[in-house]
Amino acid sequence: MLARTNIINDAIHQLFDAVGAISVQGYDEERKVVYWNEGSEALYGYSQAEALGQRIEDLIIPKPMRDIVVSAHTDWLNKGIEIPAAELTLRSKNNDDVHVFSSHVMFTNQNNEKEMYCIDINLADLKDAQAQAVFKESMLDVVLKATPDIFFLLADDGLILDYYASNKTKLYLPPNEIIGKNMVGILPPDVDKKFRLNIAKTVQNGGVTSFEYELDLPNGLTHFEARISHLSAYNQLVIIVRDITEQHKSAELIRQHAYFDALTSLPNRFLSLDRLSQMLKDAERNTEKTAVLFLDLDDFKKVNDSLGHEAGDKLLIEAARRLNLAVRKQDTVGRLGGDEFIVLLRTLNEDYNALDVAENLLTLFREPFKIDNRELILTLSIGIAISPENGTGASDLLRNADTAMYQAKEMGRNTYSFYTKEMNIIMLRRFEIEEQMHGALERSEFEVYFQPQLDVKSGRVTGAEALLRWHSPVLGNIRPDEFIPIAEQTGIIVPIGEFVIQQALQFLKLWENEHKGNYNMAVNVSPRQFRDNNLVSFIKESLHKEGISASRLEFEITEGVLMTGSSYIDATLTELHDLGIKLSMDDFGTGYSSLSYLRQYAFDVLKIDRSFINGITLNKEDCDLVKATIAMAHSLGLTVVAEGVEQEEQLTLLNKLDCDYVQGFFFSKPIPANEMIKFK
Ligand code: C2E
Ligand code: CA
Ligand code: CA
Repeated sequence: MLARTNIINDAIHQLFDAVGAISVQGYDEERKVVYWNEGSEALYGYSQAEALGQRIEDLIIPKPMRDIVVSAHTDWLNKGIEIPAAELTLRSKNNDDVHVFSSHVMFTNQNNEKEMYCIDINLADLKDAQAQAVFKESMLDVVLKATPDIFFLLADDGLILDYYASNKTKLYLPPNEIIGKNMVGILPPDVDKKFRLNIAKTVQNGGVTSFEYELDLPNGLTHFEARISHLSAYNQLVIIVRDITEQHKSAELIRQHAYFDALTSLPNRFLSLDRLSQMLKDAERNTEKTAVLFLDLDDFKKVNDSLGHEAGDKLLIEAARRLNLAVRKQDTVGRLGGDEFIVLLRTLNEDYNALDVAENLLTLFREPFKIDNRELILTLSIGIAISPENGTGASDLLRNADTAMYQAKEMGRNTYSFYTKEMNIIMLRRFEIEEQMHGALERSEFEVYFQPQLDVKSGRVTGAEALLRWHSPVLGNIRPDEFIPIAEQTGIIVPIGEFVIQQALQFLKLWENEHKGNYNMAVNVSPRQFRDNNLVSFIKESLHKEGISASRLEFEITEGVLMTGSSYIDATLTELHDLGIKLSMDDFGTGYSSLSYLRQYAFDVLKIDRSFINGITLNKEDCDLVKATIAMAHSLGLTVVAEGVEQEEQLTLLNKLDCDYVQGFFFSKPIPANEMIKFK
């Protein structure tokens, strides 16, 4: 117990002894410890025995504070200036910091001596908690700064209490105008609606609600994802907003790849057909008409082959652009692949119908395409199918439009054709022929016939034209007019053409040996064969193999070969001519520009089409035309063959008109080799 106790002090000491959680120390006028309770022992580490009689400044006051404490105590004793209660950092026996809230009182004891009592409350726990709070706050600050998301703290009614955005450019309002506004009512109507609905939903159901929206910000259209959670205990909401523009872009890119053509950016086949299905559904509901236009660029493959793929690509891009010019916004222009396009027209009416659009498309293509400083003319063949008349399903309409497109090609290209039921029959036949033609060569179904050609003046046989025949065991005999175009389109004409050349030369060899004389062999060559790089070397080899002079061989070509204007055709023709092979312009008079080609290329022979020969004895125009043609051909140094001579009068007239050679049923139909060899 204390050495100098008194009545008052006794009562107080008893009280302080009882509260071990608070440190109470008593000091005399010399600041020596006169009282030291259990709480002080616990807080400062000195036992009562150790503390009693020690001066405060030697016990628990850190060095820098000592003078202040001593003078403050002196001032209190002498001048009555109280030492105010304060938070202090004192020192323990172990030299550790001791955080306390220290209050002080001054008593006068019965000896009229002053005693100062210090009541110290340990602040360690409080300090810890405060430090924790400060740490958490700074951690949150770091996290928020490092996170690109925007955080909003809202009251349940949507009032924005606080927000955090590391990137202020993503905010819809100026940064200083956000707090105090209501989240509902500041955004554009469509976005606002989403917030309104989702806030209500989250308040009602709890959990996390998320949704996406987009805002037009100064930096461009920005896509966001918002997640709302409810802090129900505080009646508050946390909204975390994330910029997902990049994800959106990559998703859009993937979509673009899946649905759009990379070259032209037009809807691809998949999307086009999907749109067609949708259009047809809408059309059925509203009893409206829908049109499908199937487009194919004429001779695009030739352009691609001769000018290269890069030029071909440019052409396709420009073609796509032009196609889009001809339609309305609600219509669709798609690319089906290669040089095939599709145009879908919805809600047709008198002012806007498939015919007008088709004509408009053809007109738009009349303007030459300027590619790499070249001007190219590219035409279109268009097939049209209209729903509901030509079908109500997407695939039916597409197939029928495709069929009509073939018809347009057949009609000479650069035109359009509407689908009819009859076309389907034609198409079926086409497919059958195409199917049967595969392997027909290997199965020896082809045979070359020969039609004799005679000298008009002497009446002697001078040669023959090789004409192909196909005896199909399935389809019967098929006329070359029917199967040759199909063979051309499928490319089978290349091996078939080689077969004809081979057979013709083989026969020529036999024929010349049989009669010990020279004959001329005319062979028809298709445009497609000129795209075959092998053509010239194949001919050289074949001539060499049979030991036949190139001058015996004559190639009949139509102006279709020349119309492409491609450099490789020119080169091939020149090569053939240089070999010594004769070139014959077939079907002269049926085309538009044969005459200009005659001057341009090294032709040797001109064949007047049988449609003119047919009429020469009947009408004067045909006769005049043939007469003029022969004269002109001769002036250019060409010999003239008249084909399709069926009557003696025609022969007599042709003789008078100075025609050189004749060929026709009047002399002989095309006949097989064994008959031809005997023909005189
Ligand atoms: P083209 O080159 O104009 O051949 C002449 C056609 O007229 C042949 O028909 C022939 O049989 C026919 N013809 C000949 N004289 C007469 C006549 O007095 N009166 C009538 N009405 N017709 C006559 P074909 O053999 O049916 O050949 C048709 C077309 O098929 C040929 O027309 C030619 O363009 C093509 N073609 C035939 N064979 C081949 C071939 O081996 N290769 C290529 N690329 N085309 C061929
Ligand atoms: Ca011919
Ligand atoms: Ca002909």
